[in-house]
Amino acid sequence: MHVAIADPSRTVAKCLTAILESHNHEVRSFRDGIEALDYIKSNQFVDVLIASSQLLSMTGPELCWETRLIAKSGRPLYIILMSSTEDRNNLVKALDGGADDFIRKPPVAEELAARLRAADRVVSMQRELQRNATTDSLTGVLNRRAFFANAREMCERADAGNFFSAVMLDVDHFKRINDSYGHGFGDDVLVAIAHEISEEGSTIGRLGGEEFAVLLDNAQLYNAVEIAESMRTRVRNLKFRRDSETISVTCSFGVSQWQSGDQIDYLLRRADVALYKAKTEGRDRVLSATSMSDSTNYDSLTSVVRSGDWNLRG
Ligand code: GH3
Ligand code: MG
Ligand code: MG
Repeated sequence: MHVAIADPSRTVAKCLTAILESHNHEVRSFRDGIEALDYIKSNQFVDVLIASSQLLSMTGPELCWETRLIAKSGRPLYIILMSSTEDRNNLVKALDGGADDFIRKPPVAEELAARLRAADRVVSMQRELQRNATTDSLTGVLNRRAFFANAREMCERADAGNFFSAVMLDVDHFKRINDSYGHGFGDDVLVAIAHEISEEGSTIGRLGGEEFAVLLDNAQLYNAVEIAESMRTRVRNLKFRRDSETISVTCSFGVSQWQSGDQIDYLLRRADVALYKAKTEGRDRVLSATSMSDSTNYDSLTSVVRSGDWNLRG
């Protein structure tokens, strides 16, 4: 595990580091509480904090509390407060202040190692829960809720100088595939498609049955259209074998670019309308929000979006 130690004494930190390293943990130690907190915040791989109750800049319970706030955002973290006093009130304060565990200072080597094994079990379980809560169990891409959380954050972070685009895609005639070859086969098709599109983008979500969305950072509309074209070709080139038959599938794509002030609903709605158009124009194609020739259609979309009639269930 990656352990951050916060203790004002170099001797204690050195002793703890030696014990933990002998059990294959990676350790960074800090004398100052704020430095420890900054380190934990900016290094996602840190999974354990061992904080002494007395620190420079802030108290141990304060550091535990601040670290607990980071953990509350869904990051797996285990917090141990270390104190030389045997006062029961101190223990209660530590646990109420956000610590998961309490250890007497200086800790005995075997006890410290055992507490880290307990931490490992808890952190592994937190990771597993986090993975289950954010990924689509069939395809392994982000589930709808996690995708929208990511997308919303991306829109909020973006300012006028940023550009990024969204791609929405939907499998063509998927019902027919299920009806002809069975639901299990249909599932295999979805897994294979998710795998192919993952090769072209990193923030990918399954929004519903056979519909996916991709966010492309630093991509203007024309870049996103190119990427969507590569995805389309990849899907088209997939070959599924069923007995002696070889089966191919296609997807339709809609692309839109983020505009200053855009909310995620608007961005995806434009991509969705382009996708709908790609379907009605014959499927197996990529259309972008601006490549839609029928301007009345686009105008009606804008008014639907503005009136709030359309609402993505994020
Ligand atoms: P279009 O080209 O217009 O998109 O037609 P389509 O047949 O793909 O669209 P439609 O919405 O009629 O059918 C989608 C089908 O996807 C119906 C539903 O049973 C199937 N489906 C939804 N979720 C899953 C899933 O998790 N696995 C499988 N195998 N099928 C699913
Ligand atoms: Mg479909
Ligand atoms: Mg669909």
